[in-house]
Parts: sequence; structure tokens; C-alpha cells
Amino acid sequence: MSDRLDVVVIGGGTAGLVTASGCARLGRRVALIEREALGGDCLWTGCVPTKALVASAKLLHQMQNAALWGLEPQRPRVTPKSIMDSMREQRRLIEHHDAPEKFRALGIDVIQGSARLLSSSEVEVDGRHLFAKDIVLATGSRTSVPPVEGLQEVGFLDHRTFLEQDAFPASLLILGGGYIGIEFAQIFARFGSRVTVVEMLDDICTKEDGDVIARLRQILTDEGIDLRTGWAVKAVRGEAGRKIARIENLNGESEELARTSRVSGHAATSTEACSSRTSPRSKP
Ligand SMILES: Cc1cc2nc3c(=O)[nH]c(=O)nc-3n(C[C@H](O)[C@H](O)[C@H](O)COP(=O)(O)OP(=O)(O)OC[C@H]3O[C@@H](n4cnc5c(N)ncnc54)[C@H](O)[C@@H]3O)c2cc1C
Repeated sequence: MSDRLDVVVIGGGTAGLVTASGCARLGRRVALIEREALGGDCLWTGCVPTKALVASAKLLHQMQNAALWGLEPQRPRVTPKSIMDSMREQRRLIEHHDAPEKFRALGIDVIQGSARLLSSSEVEVDGRHLFAKDIVLATGSRTSVPPVEGLQEVGFLDHRTFLEQDAFPASLLILGGGYIGIEFAQIFARFGSRVTVVEMLDDICTKEDGDVIARLRQILTDEGIDLRTGWAVKAVRGEAGRKIARIENLNGESEELARTSRVSGHAATSTEACSSRTSPRSKP
């Protein structure tokens, strides 16, 4: 295909795939550049793997509470590696939907590589220069690490590193009570981790209506999750195999929360999950 195109899309996540296929179906000459694998966060490290874990956690919860459906409760053994393998298998079963061939069949020039925007009409990828009337930046977002003293030194997990593990933390402190933080909180609480969510806003999932938030809080609290809204994590330090977080609220009160670094299943590792997200990358 010529390097003169109508549209160059940088980033092959949900946004890039929809844009590229939509433009191609409208008869535009399109190139789509992705530096990792097509599918982006949603397929690899977001919606799909977390929803597979939600399904496993929900089934476990229902088995443990089967009496609600008139059945004898069961307490199946939780084996982190087999749950994580099952999640990866669910992802493998649907990854073909985002295969490069599918988009090439629409006439899209799918290019593997890291794109650089050179001007409003020129993109460079691995020495190849593409020119287009329209360039779409669909480069997604990445974890925003909050400015918490000691966090980098002590170490933490984010959604990506969490999903690469084959172990669940014995105890877990989640920074951020948005959708992703709350989803991880319920997943791991159901798998048996002791979970605390620290959120500096007054509530969790604040885009929802008040009655929805209240019900959500009740469910999560009933499941044993410690919700600390109106608190911010100020500092983290490691001490004798534990991670200790200092949290503060607006009244100037301060508290220390200790979490063990031991994970159920296998090797010891970090226990904090940082779920904050930044807005789209400004530079591809
Ligand atoms: C844990 C988690 C759970 C989620 N669950 C849900 C859910 O249940 N439902 C829902 O609707 N949403 C969910 N989301 C949100 C959803 O994943 C995102 O909204 C969606 O993935 C955003 O798509 P995107 O195309 O904008 O970005 P991304 O999916 O991040 O794609 C951007 C792509 O650009 C590529 N890229 C970046 N820079 C360059 C470059 N210079 N050159 C080439 N390629 C580049 C990246 O490799 C990446 O593949 C979840 C997110 C997370 C993190």
C-alpha cells in the first residue's frame, strides 16, 4: 500500500480498531499502527481479563452462599494459578476478534511498531514515513502513580502487573475507589484477600447516583471490604516483610495500615494495587 493515505490511526486498542475499521468501510485508505498487540487494554489488561476474574469470583461467592438458592453451600479450594490460567484461556478464546488479518481483510494497512508523530500530516514508524490528511491518536492511557512518599521504593502493583501474576495477595491496599479499584477489591476479597480501599474523595464510584453508591457500599462492606473514603495515602514504608501505609483525612487525623507482603499461593511480592489512570498520552 502507498504511504499516502487518508487516515493514519496510532494505537490499536478499542478506539483505534473502531476508527480504522469504520474509516475503511467508508472507503478511506487507512493505516493502523500498534506497538504491542491489537486489542489494547480492553482485550489484554482491562475489560476481558477482569471480567473473567469477576466471573470466577462470583461463582465462588455463589457456591459459598448457595443456601440463598436452597442449595448446600460449598467451599471450593481457591488455587490462584488455575484461576489466572482460566482467565488467560477466556482471553485466548476471543482474541481472534482483534487479529490483524481481520483488519487487513478490510483493506487496512496494519503496521506493527511504535509510531512517532512528526507533523499534523506525517507519522514515522520504524523508518517508514506515512502521510495522511487525518491522523488519529488513539494511544490510550497508562497508570498514573500518585505522589505517595516511599511508594516507588516499596513497590506496588497496577492492573497490568497484577494480571501477570499467578498469586493472590493475603492482604491488599487499593489506592482509589473508582470502578477499577472497586472491581479489584471485590474480586480479591471474594478470593480471600483482606482488602482495604483508600479513596480521598468522600465516596466510591462518585459518578453513580447516591442510592446506587449506598447499595454498593453496603454490599462491599458486607463482604468484608474496609472502605476508607475521605482518606488519602500519604506515605508507604516496608518493615519486616510488611508494607505500612500512613493515611490521613481532611481533619488532619492520621492512621497506619499494615499489610503483609506474603501472597497466597506462591512467592512474596508487592501488595499495593494502584488503579489510578491518566488521561490519554499526549505524545505517541
Ligand atoms: C482493569 C480495567 C478494567 C476495565 N474494564 C472495563 C469494562 O469492563 N468495560 C469497559 O467498557 N471498559 C473497561 N475498561 C476500560 C477500557 O479498557 C478502556 O476504556 C479502553 O481499553 C480504551 O481503549 P483505547 O483504544 O482508548 O486505549 P487502549 O486500549 O489503551 O489502546 C491504546 C493502544 O495504543 C497503543 N499505542 C500507544 N502508543 C503507541 C505508539 N506510539 N505507537 C503505536 N501504538 C501505540 C498501545 O499499545 C495500545 O494498544 C477497563 C480498563 C481497565 C484498566
